Amino acid sequence: MRDQQLALVTGASRGIGRAIALRLAQQGYAIAACYSTPSEAADEAQKEIAGVGVPHYYATCDVTDAAAVESFISTAEDRLGPIHALVNNAGITRDAPLVLAKRSDLDAVMDTNFGGTWNFCRALAFRFMKRRAGNIVNLSSVAGVYGNSGQTAYGASKAAIIGLSRSLAKEVAAYGIRVNVVAPGFIETDMTGVLDPKVRDKALQLIALRRYGSADDVAHMVEFLISAKADYITGQVFQVDGGITL
Ligand code: NAD
Repeated sequence: MRDQQLALVTGASRGIGRAIALRLAQQGYAIAACYSTPSEAADEAQKEIAGVGVPHYYATCDVTDAAAVESFISTAEDRLGPIHALVNNAGITRDAPLVLAKRSDLDAVMDTNFGGTWNFCRALAFRFMKRRAGNIVNLSSVAGVYGNSGQTAYGASKAAIIGLSRSLAKEVAAYGIRVNVVAPGFIETDMTGVLDPKVRDKALQLIALRRYGSADDVAHMVEFLISAKADYITGQVFQVDGGITL
C-alpha cells in the first residue's frame, strides 16, 4: 500500500469540490480543503471528512488572495506533510449577456476562477519541482471549450484555465509533474440549482445521456487523474458532460 498522500482541494464546502474531497478521503488521501466563507455547508463537509477518519485540514482561504493562499499551503504542509495533488475547483458565475454585463462581474469571475487557479499553481509549482513530485487538476467547463451564451466572462475564465494548464504542463513535465483539466458539463449543484427551470430543461434536452451530471461523476475523473493510473497523461482536457457537446 502507498504511503498516505495529501490532496488539496479548493472550494470544498459544497458541490463538486465537496464531492471530490470526500471521494479522495474515502480513497485514503489526507485532505487539505478550503472554501470562501464559513457556512453550515462547510461545517457539514468538514464533519463528512472527519467521519472518514483521514488526517485533514479544513479552513477558509480566499483563492483570490495570494498571501492567504501561500499561508494556507504552508499551514497544510506543516500539519499534514507535503502536498501530492492540487485540485483547483473553486469557482463562481456572474452570468449575463455581454451587452448587459458589468466590468466588476468580469473582474470577480476572472479573479476567482482564473486568478485563484493561477495563485495555487504559482504557490505549489516550485515546491513540486523541488520534490520532483506532485500533480495538478484544474476545473474548467465545457463553456471554456465551446462557449455558452450568457457566459462570456465565465467562458473566458474557463478557457484561460485551459491555456494556463497546457502551458504549465509543458513547463513542469521534465520534473515529472502532470497538469490536467476536467471540463464538466451540466452538473447538479447549488451553482446550477439557481438556474431558470426553462434553462435547465433546455440543457437536459441537449445531454445525450439524458440526465444531469452528479458531483460524483466529476470526482471519479479527478480521482483517476491524480492517481498513478494516469501517470502517462498530461496537458489534456477531459470533458465529463454526458455528451452535451456531441
Ligand atoms: P458551487 O457554487 O456549488 O461551489 C463553489 C465552491 O467554490 C464553494 O465551496 C465556494 O466556497 C468556493 N469558492 C467560491 N469562491 C471562492 C473564493 N474566492 N475562495 C475560495 N473558495 C471559493 O460550485 P460547483 O457547481 O460545485 O462548481 C465547482 C467548480 O466546477 C467551479 O469551478 C465551476 O465553475 C465548475 N463547473 C461547474 C459546473 C456545474 O454544472 N455545476 C459545470 C462546469 C464547471
